[in-house]
Amino acid sequence: MISKKELRYLVVIAELGEEARLSKISERIGVKPPSALEEINHLISKGLVFRLNNLVKLTEKGKEEVKRVERAHRIIEYVFYNGGMNIERACEIASELDCLFPSDAIEALFITAGRPKKCPHGKDI
Ligand SMILES: [Zn+2]
Repeated sequence: MISKKELRYLVVIAELGEEARLSKISERIGVKPPSALEEINHLISKGLVFRLNNLVKLTEKGKEEVKRVERAHRIIEYVFYNGGMNIERACEIASELDCLFPSDAIEALFITAGRPKKCPHGKDI
């Protein structure tokens, strides 16, 4: 399981790609470089990222975590949207919950929802 803060770093690092240097990461997150470094070292200790020259990169485990949370987000969003909520509200609540659901709970929700193929935004589940 990862926290919202950890996820934020992983997504920013993935988006920056070949520009994922400490200065860029801290700028994008909106914190000072020492704070970003502390969080990056924490992510390294969890096996989610590694350093290569001056760059920070996602490990396979880090990539899997991002995908797992994305999938959770889409399934939760689908359930709320299907239950009559508007898409913005469904997305907002899914954003609060997607990190909190373990994989087995997400799979149970997915099956209960009838194995949907797309989220309300049209992205693949
Ligand atoms: Zn969403």
